[in-house]
Amino acid sequence: MTIQTLSGLAQAGALAGKRVFIRSDLNVPLDQGRITEDTRIRASVPAIRLALDAGATVMVTSHLGRPKEGVVGPEDTLQPVADRLSELLGRPVPLVRDWVDGVDLKPGAVVLLENCRCNPGEKKNDPELARRMAALCDVYVNDAFGTAHRAEATTEGMVRFAPVACAGPLLAAELDALGRALQSPRRPMVAIVGGSKVSTKLSILQSLADKVDQLIVGGGIANTFMLAAGLPIGKSLAEPDQVDQAKAVMRAMRARGVEVPIPVDVVVATTFAADAPATVKAATDVGPDDLILDIGPKTAEKLAQQLRQAGTIVWNGPVGVFEFDAFAGGTRVIAQAIADSDGFSIAGGGDTLAAIAKYGIADRVGYISTGGGAFLEFLEGKTLPAVAALQAKNA
Ligand code: ADP
Ligand code: MG
Repeated sequence: MTIQTLSGLAQAGALAGKRVFIRSDLNVPLDQGRITEDTRIRASVPAIRLALDAGATVMVTSHLGRPKEGVVGPEDTLQPVADRLSELLGRPVPLVRDWVDGVDLKPGAVVLLENCRCNPGEKKNDPELARRMAALCDVYVNDAFGTAHRAEATTEGMVRFAPVACAGPLLAAELDALGRALQSPRRPMVAIVGGSKVSTKLSILQSLADKVDQLIVGGGIANTFMLAAGLPIGKSLAEPDQVDQAKAVMRAMRARGVEVPIPVDVVVATTFAADAPATVKAATDVGPDDLILDIGPKTAEKLAQQLRQAGTIVWNGPVGVFEFDAFAGGTRVIAQAIADSDGFSIAGGGDTLAAIAKYGIADRVGYISTGGGAFLEFLEGKTLPAVAALQAKNA
């Protein structure tokens, strides 16, 4: 199913003199009102430029944080984003505070509309709110892949009410890159899933088990698999009630002729702290008070070898507590192996991106997704609601 794109509309001359509403993802980390990392803002600029250059009048909005609906608290305002955006665009970008029922705009202007998640009804995709917001524009643009897995009023509802709806360049590129990589991946395809969100990720592993040739687990996920394999894990992060799920994943992979590798060694500590003394232990020797905070060096080397031979690698989730240097070894070795692999690699997830930045391998990863939850749901083969709405619009 094809989706109309902003660049397609621009090429067709369909944006001149039109009011264009862009739902971006400008949800940047802030420290006391200061932007600490502006990747998402920079990534949103091409869509805005494209619309402006095509002669449109542009309204941009985004969510920021998790505000309470109905109020804009001091930490909820997009003002710092408006300031940064005007620097990047080289022109003033005024912030409009109350905008749902009308925005006063000069032709060719660009404004930022205050945090859309402060509007009552945004989260629960209230059709009345969606209708009012859609009435602001001639063309609705979704350029926010990171929230495409959520059906909210600015991501899904507005599509149904706007006269024209399309995907912005960031969303289009993301769907294109992920779609292509997953449709006919170079084999063997290896997925490596780590991190701490064990229960959400286990359900993802079940659907991945049908698609990939090899499945590697790390982090809290691996601990749950160790438990399933009958190994001691002490006080490690795991979800014992998910052991059956882990066993089901192991069986599914075994039916395809491969084993889910279970760590043979681990790095443990007795407290969860940056300065906790780290000890490498065989997986069979984990004590009752131990916390497994990383995979061990033997395990990391085995997995790295497997990754280096992959045709396609999908990576989500660090394999250890990489924020603490003593427990970062596994993730560093894995990151390096992914960078060294000739295979096409795709990575996504907030902490995964932090690990990629920490080990400086960004330019050696095939594709880095801007999405966390959306990336995972896409991998699972789920249809993202915001994307489905755009598809339905032009069907
Ligand atoms: P992502 O954001 O990439 O999807 P998650 O949020 O699921 O990843 O998990 C990342 C977090 O998991 C990191 O903060 C890391 O410290 C933590 N983690 C990894 N391994 C372990 C472990 N063995 N025990 C506890 N936490 C872990
Ligand atoms: Mg995370």
